[in-house]
Amino acid sequence: MTKYLCLISVLLAQKSHTLLLDRLYAEPLVLDTATFRWVQAQVSEKELLAHVGFLASDPLQGREAGSPYEKIAAMYLIHQHKRFGHPPLLPNGYIHTFPLRRSRPTPPPPATPSKKKKAAPPSPEVVFDTVETWNILAVRRGTLHPTQYVVLSAHYDHIGTTSRGEPFNGADDNGSGTAVLLEAARLLSLLPPPKRSIVFFHTAAEEKGLLGAFRFVRDSLLPLDSIVAVVNTDMLGRTDTLHQKGERYLYAIGSDRATPHLRTIQERVNALCCEWQLDYRYDDPKDPLRLFTRSDHYAFARYGVPAVFYFGGLHEDYHGTGDDVEKLEPERLQRAAVFLALMAWTLANL
Ligand SMILES: [Zn+2]
Repeated sequence: MTKYLCLISVLLAQKSHTLLLDRLYAEPLVLDTATFRWVQAQVSEKELLAHVGFLASDPLQGREAGSPYEKIAAMYLIHQHKRFGHPPLLPNGYIHTFPLRRSRPTPPPPATPSKKKKAAPPSPEVVFDTVETWNILAVRRGTLHPTQYVVLSAHYDHIGTTSRGEPFNGADDNGSGTAVLLEAARLLSLLPPPKRSIVFFHTAAEEKGLLGAFRFVRDSLLPLDSIVAVVNTDMLGRTDTLHQKGERYLYAIGSDRATPHLRTIQERVNALCCEWQLDYRYDDPKDPLRLFTRSDHYAFARYGVPAVFYFGGLHEDYHGTGDDVEKLEPERLQRAAVFLALMAWTLANL
């Protein structure tokens, strides 16, 4: 008797651990060709460039997490989701706030005139303070299974200014992914509501160590087993040092770590809508750059949630003051916005 009960409980446990995506996926995967064509015709370069033009402008001072400039960027994101008719995911509004502990070097004391031999200048002391930082979360509610979710994420923070006050505008990192996420949200708002909910997650403090995404998981804002998949975007707007300008490549990282079905869906959607040359070179878990662990999807993927990271690669302006809007390639942004919207649409309608 005990033996059978044990067996039943093991089987039940195994069943409950089957990924939601694996339970939903069925062959043949039928893609919604008419919607795909329609979305391709609607994507707007003007919208994309307006978003990144604002977020990566000098007055935004590099959108550092915890700064007033992060809050200006956050209010811009909220305004856009209101414009698209997307309500907040959380009952108390679009903002998920959490504390951020910062270190600041204090300026050295003024030098006192002395006849003695010049001493080495004292090293600046480091002081800590705590400020608020904001994740921004909006949702397109599903009709049939509103408590099952596809999560689209992109970090909107960047690294502030140089010590001389020159802004790191972060047009590619990650003005590009943020603009693509907003444009995908707009495109999805033009379609009928999907079967499952689509969450638009603008993460905070990614540059401080993926803190916003980790905090989302720590605060259990959604049950992890209710998430079909996470699709994360970072640095999509430029050609990296490993490719030629105009090459239609996109790194897709991690799409088969949790289940082969996410990669299958990605390849089928891509073939029909976007024709990216999906580059899997960073997918190798032994890759020395370990990019899979270096952006926000990892907060979910480490618990086994299917997640994929779309990335355009590193270039000479990465975390430099030259990461500016005029260097972005609008065609890449448009293609990425269509791809993101149609991945979300397909996953949310399985
Ligand atoms: Zn980034």
